[in-house]
Amino acid sequence: MKNSDQNKKDNQAENKNADFVQPASDAATNLQKLFVESLKDIFWAENALLKALPKMASNATDASLKSSIKDHIAVTENQIVRLEKVFEILGEKAEGKKCAAMAGLIEEGNSILEETQPGAVRDAGIIAASQKVEHYEIATYGTLLAFAKTLGENDAAKLLQQTLAEEIEADKILTDVATASVNADANESN
Ligand code: FE
Ligand code: FE
Ligand code: ZN
Ligand code: FE
Repeated sequence: MKNSDQNKKDNQAENKNADFVQPASDAATNLQKLFVESLKDIFWAENALLKALPKMASNATDASLKSSIKDHIAVTENQIVRLEKVFEILGEKAEGKKCAAMAGLIEEGNSILEETQPGAVRDAGIIAASQKVEHYEIATYGTLLAFAKTLGENDAAKLLQQTLAEEIEADKILTDVATASVNADANESN
């Protein structure tokens, strides 16, 4: 017969085991493999974003917001080409794997369009949704860059660094558009 302390310890061990996730048969075994899987995730994400951005540009009213989104479409196309180069450097096939986070961020962006009247208020919503996307990308490329450096993949790191800089710049432009006019204009709408 176990004492109550022993039972408590056993329960704690069981709870820990219940949360432990068994790895899939193709689970990454090293950083190189995790790096490649993470590249597939952002490759899917960039391609999904490329398809979603024109709708955001069409729904924007502020001229500088519209043009900054359109500019980011061209930037994103080039980022996809850059990722293809990274796959090539690694001797891997360029393929996407669904990024649940970007799918959710795009879905949220579409919801914000329905939830806002066109004009400055919708513009403020588009900026909010877009900055969530940019922050996800900044986090992702920051990690990918760190992985590339650790792996000694210096050519890949250079390419990822360029994209990271573009995502930081895109985020900054959105902040500038919001604070220069859109937020104040949205505040005057009734
Ligand atoms: Fe991007
Ligand atoms: Fe992802
Ligand atoms: Zn982006
Ligand atoms: Fe971006």
